This record gives sequence, structure tokens and C-alpha cells, in this order.
Amino acid sequence: MKIANKTVTATRLVKDALEKAKHFADYNIFTFIDEEGALKRAAEIDAKIARGENAGRLAGVPYALKDNFLSRRGDTTASAHILEGTASPIDATAVAKLEAEGAIMIGRTNLDAFAHGSSTENSYFGPTLNAYDKTRVAGGSSGGSAVAVALDIVEFATGTDTGGSIRQPASFNGIYGIKPTYGTISRYGVVAMASSLDCVGFFAKSPEDLDLVMSIAAGQDPKDMTSLPDYYDDDAYGDDASAGPAAASSPTVAGVPAGVPQAASPADAKAAKKIGIIKDFDNDVVNAEIREALRKKCKLLESKGHEIVELEMPTLKYALAVYYIIQPAEVASNLSRYDGIRYGFRSENSQDLDSVYKNTRDEGFMPENKRRIMIGNFVLSSGFYDAYFLKAAKARTMIINEYAAAFDKCDFILTPVSPNYAFKLGEKVNDPVAMYLEDLMSVSLNLAGIPGLAIPAGEAKDGNKLGLQLVGPRRSDKNLIAFAKELQDEND
Ligand code: GLN
Repeated sequence: MKIANKTVTATRLVKDALEKAKHFADYNIFTFIDEEGALKRAAEIDAKIARGENAGRLAGVPYALKDNFLSRRGDTTASAHILEGTASPIDATAVAKLEAEGAIMIGRTNLDAFAHGSSTENSYFGPTLNAYDKTRVAGGSSGGSAVAVALDIVEFATGTDTGGSIRQPASFNGIYGIKPTYGTISRYGVVAMASSLDCVGFFAKSPEDLDLVMSIAAGQDPKDMTSLPDYYDDDAYGDDASAGPAAASSPTVAGVPAGVPQAASPADAKAAKKIGIIKDFDNDVVNAEIREALRKKCKLLESKGHEIVELEMPTLKYALAVYYIIQPAEVASNLSRYDGIRYGFRSENSQDLDSVYKNTRDEGFMPENKRRIMIGNFVLSSGFYDAYFLKAAKARTMIINEYAAAFDKCDFILTPVSPNYAFKLGEKVNDPVAMYLEDLMSVSLNLAGIPGLAIPAGEAKDGNKLGLQLVGPRRSDKNLIAFAKELQDEND
């Protein structure tokens, strides 16, 4: 708006963002800063506005791009040595949509290589530091994007969430992050991790900003056959969006017949809701201050007339085990294409074709990437397929059913994002199982394909940020964002 009204130029906004990015260089947020490209785009937007043309809903808004999205600007490395020097001839669909509305990418952000991790310490380029305590991790895998938003360098940033990579770093840095319903935003042009779990989403400082970028990026894409119809197309929502007791009994928005899934309007968002709390997570595995933050939010909700219901979800404790079978299986398949021939880096030390493959993969992947390739090939091997992969696939269906049953009893679920807040750099990086345990509460949403929204929830005694996640049924994304506004608290 300020740009359209000519009170500020796109060039000024981009220059400010670039200056801040340089100022915070020691946080290791960016793998690449595109000063020249961003200023050129800003000049184009300013010229458009000077000519009186419509420059788009995000005209001149600087944003940061997780470095696993293809864009014609800069190499796409996914923070992995094996992809260094990989230029893209195309823009990912999400990138193309944001840029068509005038958003300006100022740089690419650091991640755990190939998005494998929960701290950004698995990056070939070194870890990103937490926005509130430089001795702690940024969270991951989208650590760079989260810190870029938390330090106010950009208004929003893209992320991918396969098992928590948007929600967990958002909560570690005190901002909002959404993992949409599987398929809401096209995955075309995004480096694949585990294709049945991967979701494109965003980081922002308010639910309103998330709503805006979601409405721009979402929608069906012929280039991604798993993509769903538009975010704002209510007819496309299916029955699930209005499922749940409150939706069935709440007053209908004027003019919309009962039974038709409704868009989130202020009236709908304010209707009394039933909020589920998962009893199975109320124990010592979860940090006491996070549990206290959850209780505080429940009180806030009750004071606004919402009802808290306790849920028993005994299958969720298996989600982590299921995830760490299905996800590596898909990783092993997706990473088989990096052979030193078609993309980026190729090992210099090879005499024949076999050693090109072997040495490139050995030198190019990070240890965590290799661990997942090995686990994935093991669980898919003919001797172990039935015992591991097939069993995990069946358990995944049980998790989907458990969530469906939970949403018969409540409209949304409120739960911690992870068992702990930001941990110390180096604390878990050499202990993969300890790192995997951090994903205890985030992965089940990806297995079930349902949306989750990380919201700020105050601070721990030592000043670190706490976060919670709001979880909804399939395609309730828009309603989740609308409801998050009710949970806003000035102390967060
Ligand atoms: N931390 C999880 C993992 O390591 C999730 C990563 C992600 O969502 N990309 O697999």
C-alpha cells in the first residue's frame, strides 16, 4: 500500500532489507544474497507504479527464499555440496506466483542439506544461529528463513515442511509458520525430499501476512499432479473443512446455506470452537515451560468462550518411528538422481563412470543425507520391505484415522510443536536419535496430510522463545489462520 501510495519506493525497501541482511551476516542466514538482481526488480516495480500500472499485491515486498526452491536467480544448492553450481532454467511455481504479484527475493536461505534435520547444523555451509541467542540453534531445516523473518530482514520467507521444518524453526524464533494441507501449494520446482510428505509453506510475523501469501501461492498446478484446487475456492474444499462439532452447530455466515463449507470470515472465526488437547503429550518428555505455555493459551481460549476437550491419541507415539521409515524410503529414491552427471558438483578424483558416481555421492552428500539413503534402501529391500515399509504404511493409515476421529470431537487441536525450545549448537548434532526425537510432535501432521500453524507462545525464563501449533482437519488452512488471530497475545 505504502508503495502504491508512493510514500515509500520498492528500491528503498529492498535497500533496507539488503542492509539488514549484511548487518546480520554473522548469523549465517543466507547462502546467497542477490543485491544486483533485487535492486533491478525493485527499479522495474517502481517504474511500473510511476506509469500508473498495477504492480501486484506484494509490490516491492522483499522476501527470502529457502535454498531448495528453483529460481532463475542464483544457484539452487539445498545447502548441499553436491548441488553447488546448479543453475535453474525455471522458477518454482510458488516463486513464479509470488513474483507475479511483485514480491522481490533478496536472497536464498540456509537449510539442513536437502532439508534433512531439525537445527540447520547439517548444512554444508555451517549452521544458522538463533535470532534470540547466538549460542543456540535456529531450528530446522528451514533455519535461515525463520531467522530472516525473526530479525526483521524480510516480511516473509518461504519454507518446506516434510516433518516440521517450518513449524519448529518458527517456534524456535518466536514467529508464525504454516505447513499447509498436503498439496495446497505446488511442489513443482522444489528440491524433493520425501514426496508424499513435502509441503511448501511460509514464515511471517502475523497471521494476516500468512493469509495473504498463502492466497497468492496456493492453487492447482498442472505441473504437480498432487496439487489441490484453490485455497479461496470454497466449493473445492470438500466436506472435511466444515467437519467438527462447532462447524456443524455454529451459526452460518449470512447468505451461505448450511452444509456448504464456509470460508473463514470474522463471524466464522469468532464462533465458539472446541479445542482438543492431546493428553498423551502432557508428560515429562515435554519441557515444563512449554506445557505451561499451553495451559496459558487454553485459559485464554476459555476466557473467550471456547471449550477445551481432552483427547487420547495413543497411536501418535508411533508417528516418529513410522516417519523415520517412510521418509528415508522416499529420500533414498529422490536422491538417487544426484550422480555427478546431471547436476552441480562432480568429483575430480574419478577414472571411470562407476567411480564418478561413487566419489561424487561420497564427497557431495552430508553424513545425514547418507544415513537416510542407507536406512531408506534397507527398509525398501526385498528382505525387509514387509517388516518395515509395509508395516509403516499401515500404521500411517491408523494415524490418519486417529486424527479423523479426533476431529469428530473438536474443531482444532492445540499442541506443542516440539518437546524442547531452541537447544544449544552442537548439543544434538552428533546424536542422530536425539535429533530425531525433536520431531516427535511435528511429523504426524505430515503423515496425515493435515495443516499445522506454529504460533508464538511467550518466552522461557532464560528469554528463549516458546511456540505451539494449531492443527486442523484437511483443508482447514484458512480457518486455522483466522483462528490464530484469537490466540494473539501482546506478551508473545
Ligand atoms: N526434522 C525432520 C527431519 O529431519 C523434518 C525435516 C523437514 O521437515 N524437512 O526429517
